[in-house]
Amino acid sequence: EETIEFVRATQLQGDEVSRRTLRHSKEVGKLSIQAVRRSLPVFPFREELLAAIADHQVLIIEGETGSGKTTQIPQYLFEEGYTKKGMKIACTQPRRVAAMSVAARVAREMGGGGEPLGIRFEDCTSERTVLRYMTDGMLLREFLSEPDLASYSVVMVDEAHERTLHTDILFGLIKDVARFRPELKVLVASATLDTARFSTFFDDAPVFRIPGRRFPVDIFYTKAPEADYLEACVVSVLQIHVTQPPGDILVFLTGQEEIEAACEMLQDRCRRLGSKIRELLVLPIYANLPSDMQARIFQPTPPGARKVVVATNIAETSLTIEGIIYVLDPGFCKQKSYNPRTGMESLTVTPCSKASANQRAGRAGRVAAGKCFRLYTAWAYQHELEETTVPEIQRTSLGNVVLLLKSLGIHDLMHFDFLDPPPYETLLLALEQLYALGALNHLGELTTVRWEVITLPLTAYSCSEEILTVAAMLSVNNSIFYRPKDKVVHADNARVNFFLPGGDHLVLLNVYTQWAESGYSSQWCYENFVQFRSMRRARDVREQLEGLLERVEVGLSSCQGDYIRVRKAITAGYFYHTARLTRSGYRTVKQQQTVFIHPNSSLFEEQPRWLLYHELVLTTKEFMRQVLEIESSWLLEVAPHYYKAKELEDPHSKKMPKKIGKTREELG
Ligand code: ADP
Ligand code: MG
Repeated sequence: EETIEFVRATQLQGDEVSRRTLRHSKEVGKLSIQAVRRSLPVFPFREELLAAIADHQVLIIEGETGSGKTTQIPQYLFEEGYTKKGMKIACTQPRRVAAMSVAARVAREMGGGGEPLGIRFEDCTSERTVLRYMTDGMLLREFLSEPDLASYSVVMVDEAHERTLHTDILFGLIKDVARFRPELKVLVASATLDTARFSTFFDDAPVFRIPGRRFPVDIFYTKAPEADYLEACVVSVLQIHVTQPPGDILVFLTGQEEIEAACEMLQDRCRRLGSKIRELLVLPIYANLPSDMQARIFQPTPPGARKVVVATNIAETSLTIEGIIYVLDPGFCKQKSYNPRTGMESLTVTPCSKASANQRAGRAGRVAAGKCFRLYTAWAYQHELEETTVPEIQRTSLGNVVLLLKSLGIHDLMHFDFLDPPPYETLLLALEQLYALGALNHLGELTTVRWEVITLPLTAYSCSEEILTVAAMLSVNNSIFYRPKDKVVHADNARVNFFLPGGDHLVLLNVYTQWAESGYSSQWCYENFVQFRSMRRARDVREQLEGLLERVEVGLSSCQGDYIRVRKAITAGYFYHTARLTRSGYRTVKQQQTVFIHPNSSLFEEQPRWLLYHELVLTTKEFMRQVLEIESSWLLEVAPHYYKAKELEDPHSKKMPKKIGKTREELG
């Protein structure tokens, strides 16, 4: 039937070693877990690497994805005695899913469930934890309680080439700490990109190269541009399945919704084709996928069948799935961008960079010679893709980072040691906003000790119990509710049952309170379509915040059901994120930007006149996510320095149409 025409263009070169190990790597599936460890490209370099680490304080480690950097190097360090005397090893990952997945893998490799040996992902760190796989953001927060990272003997900043905001900030902080702690070892691990930059930044630290083991990959392009890349993806996967020799397929899409849609379309068509084609296992992987589903992508493909893994960027360099021979790359990714003029952060689907496209292609050449099918033309690759991805620090808002750095005593942000500095206007706007918030004084100094506390003006409204919960729930935001495709109606009903008048912050509070009443039960989560993992994380964050409050001596108090107080307290923290309903829909109060309530919000159909939003995201439109109904008079009460009475007047009060915009049903 339908096919897509691809033309063969270039080839990613393989290398010598890989040709020699071809036979060997095909047998990896049958090896014991220890033999697999010894088969990884990093293994022959174990001694040399440990010697280099002993000799140098900072070492840049460059190695092809899948060579064993993340899972092996921390184990080598452990075996070498770097965790003696109660010291810990940290290894950071830009993504939670990756951190969790590798922590689980390493625990299995080291034997036992992880607990006896103490390999942990953050949620349940104990006294005995020696290897900590964590997100880069978590290590940043460690600086707050331990500014010199005194309990760590080694810090490995992994996936450094991703250049996330948190990783970039870590570079500056760690470089500084390393000066004062000569015994601290710093490892910067990266795929084969950018390593010279890292070396220069760390005063010309040596680069240790782990030679890749890469088979050649043939690159194919489409003849003509594809209008609908999702549909094109589905057609191409089936085409590969039907026409190509055995080997699993990896598809890169941009996010959960797209991935679920693609998986569903694939399953549908396979069902229709029935026994006319061989079995095709369709497996999704994205951040909010429950862990048991995530683990499935690593299971070996049954003989005779073929596996297709539909993934986000996570499979680009953070996770390696064995057995991939074919890569299908539509050439897009979801990217954050920031406009300092409007203060608007947006998440949009944009073409990926050439560097990204080549990393993706490389995934096809790990176990044998592979093929990469790009759903764009060779011309588009040459002329439309950027060389590399712009570091996140240059396309994000910086409020939280500025607060964090200030609370670490770093005052002169303009001269902070950035690998790539953020735009001047973005930094300036962050400072201005924090000043407006009362978080910084006119000298640019922090007015309160702890940054988490700053956004939570707790004392005035005596509802710190509730605010802590809301803050903790917001920190895991957008991953609370589970909405499996086959139980959409049940899941939506369960969610609606949590709705409380007043808005989404109260809904979050409601979910947490009920969960706490159930004894923090996982069964309760399951029955209510709530993600247990996210809830457990919210509980951890809440405990952390509670600890911080204790330290700044703010007592705990509850509003006893008087939710107006909770809403006012939130307004006091987020007064600069407000919108009002006008004749032509919602507009942000200060910038007059057109915005919309997210269809998942509990207020979607209510359309209250004044709103506070937690964040703005641009997908198909500018959506406000997590919204709260407020009164304009509260704004004058909590932020008289920011608002003038005139701005908050309602020119045509009372005569507002009840409903503006489409209902959920109309949106589909
Ligand atoms: P790198 O960090 O250099 O990209 P890794 O240490 O992540 O390499 O991966 C080394 C090997 O461990 C890979 O072959 C990968 O397939 C395997 N691996 C990693 N995580 C898992 C997992 N959760 N299950 C099975 N194998 C895994
Ligand atoms: Mg890795």
